[in-house]
Amino acid sequence: MTTDPLQELRCWLEQNWDPDMRVGEWWERLGMAGWSAPMLPVECHGRGVSRGDALQVGRVIAEFGALGPPAGLGLALAAPTLATHGTREQIDRYVPDIVTGRLAWCQLFSEPGAGSDLAGLSTRAERDGDVWVVNGQKVWTSGGHFADLGMLLARTNPSAPKHQGITWFVLDMHQPGVEVRPLREMTGSTMFSEVFFTDAVVADRARIGDVNNGWSVANTTLLYERSGMGAGSNQPPAGFLVRPGTVAGDLDLRAGDFVRAHSTPIDDAHSTPQRSAAQLYIDLARQTGQDRDPTIRQELVRAHILGELRRFNTERQKAVRAAGGDIPGIANFSKLLMAHALRLNRDLGMQILGARGMLHAYGADQRTSLADLPGQRAAHAVTALALRAQALPIFGGTDQIQRNIIGERVLGLPKEPGDLSRLPFDQLAKNGTG
Ligand SMILES: Cc1cc2nc3c(=O)[nH]c(=O)nc-3n(C[C@H](O)[C@H](O)[C@H](O)COP(=O)(O)OP(=O)(O)OC[C@H]3O[C@@H](n4cnc5c(N)ncnc54)[C@H](O)[C@@H]3O)c2cc1C
Repeated sequence: MTTDPLQELRCWLEQNWDPDMRVGEWWERLGMAGWSAPMLPVECHGRGVSRGDALQVGRVIAEFGALGPPAGLGLALAAPTLATHGTREQIDRYVPDIVTGRLAWCQLFSEPGAGSDLAGLSTRAERDGDVWVVNGQKVWTSGGHFADLGMLLARTNPSAPKHQGITWFVLDMHQPGVEVRPLREMTGSTMFSEVFFTDAVVADRARIGDVNNGWSVANTTLLYERSGMGAGSNQPPAGFLVRPGTVAGDLDLRAGDFVRAHSTPIDDAHSTPQRSAAQLYIDLARQTGQDRDPTIRQELVRAHILGELRRFNTERQKAVRAAGGDIPGIANFSKLLMAHALRLNRDLGMQILGARGMLHAYGADQRTSLADLPGQRAAHAVTALALRAQALPIFGGTDQIQRNIIGERVLGLPKEPGDLSRLPFDQLAKNGTG
């Protein structure tokens, strides 16, 4: 970095941003200049800046009015994992396509029988010369139906204890052995898919880290997943306004159009910071006249206080990090707090809306019709938030798992009795096998 990276970025934006460019062209420039993933080391197409500086980079791009980097799991999870565990050749093969948004990634970790207990996964990869043959099933795969590549965890040694027989691969999603079945959620949108593997093939050179050492590689991926959320980022795991990769078709669209779309936060209540979320409910209660109701008033104050607590907590975390320190368990605590605030807001919103809260917009037309109803312009956003509020307490480690981590790793409480992690995976009891 030069002496003032943000000044350098502003100059760079002056010279490079053009709203008439295609999204793909813009991301090519942004990524190859190191501004898409500034936290990555310089040799991995980043700029080697701290988390605090990286947040500033994002802010400067947004304030300038340019389109931000290609959001998604490639940039958030795959790139830092590859930078940590990939060989030089693997970094050169995969990272440029991530920082420029040319290819989109998904995370093929969770399975029907392995979510919180991720190390219990049973998708198999068996070696056949220079390739591995993959069979099994994943679920909850965010953005799976838009992905070009997947971060695959597969069992490569069933006779080893469960954490010691897993390997991390880069899987090509566009091959005959991969079937992606999108799942429709109660929100009406399709954020994730089931993914089935039938003799899918992955080359050994697409293996990241050593054979059977995938658990440690996966921990890097999970660390970035959790720290992203703990740092106060409200990004959902997928489903952004403008999507990278060859499938979504967004690379050919005009970049400037997405900048305008970004400036209407009320349409995406999930990304509304809690502080403004409280304001959203206060405004709504005023419109319905319920701001005089003592019970509602009490809940509005609670929502406001929680929003402020979250904000202070994020500030505290940033300050400690900037000073080179860390607060044990803060990321887990932040996620719990965010989940708690979301639930409170969900209930509050439904209380204010009453029967109208049963009306949900499943498409753009319905959204317009609901927004046009007299009196409650933001009601559809409140209902959408209520339906989406179930996601956060589950993904990236459920609330219960966050509490376990805080209990065991921060408070020093004893672990659960019985250590199943030492038994060979194929001797562990599974559903239906006693
Ligand atoms: C919106 C969303 C997006 C997601 N995206 C992805 C993705 O892209 N890729 C991916 O691989 N996965 C993804 N996931 C999956 C997510 O990581 C899992 O859902 C999560 O790990 C929980 O696993 P599970 O659903 O199998 O629940 P389970 O692990 O079966 O848990 C069921 C219940 O039991 C509780 N429980 C389980 N174990 C314990 C324990 N030891 N102590 C106390 N309570 C326990 C849990 O808290 C939960 O309440 C996503 C999930 C959501 C909701």
